[in-house]
Amino acid sequence: MPWCDPCEKNWTPTSVGPDGTCPDCGEALEGTPGVEHQPIVHKTPWHFWVGVAVAGAYLAWRAVQGALLLF
Ligand SMILES: [Zn+2]
Repeated sequence: MPWCDPCEKNWTPTSVGPDGTCPDCGEALEGTPGVEHQPIVHKTPWHFWVGVAVAGAYLAWRAVQGALLLF
């Protein structure tokens, strides 16, 4: 979490400037992505889609079972 000493405030990584400075006072923030660390890439991990696929397959199977109960 980017922390600004002069403002004594925590900023979310998305609310700081693109150069990693405080939006209030322009101070370079500690722990800011892109300054000391790699920028946070908001990328969906592959295992999320595995979970989505498994959940979708399960729900499809339950739908088939529910349809079979009607007959
Ligand atoms: Zn500040």
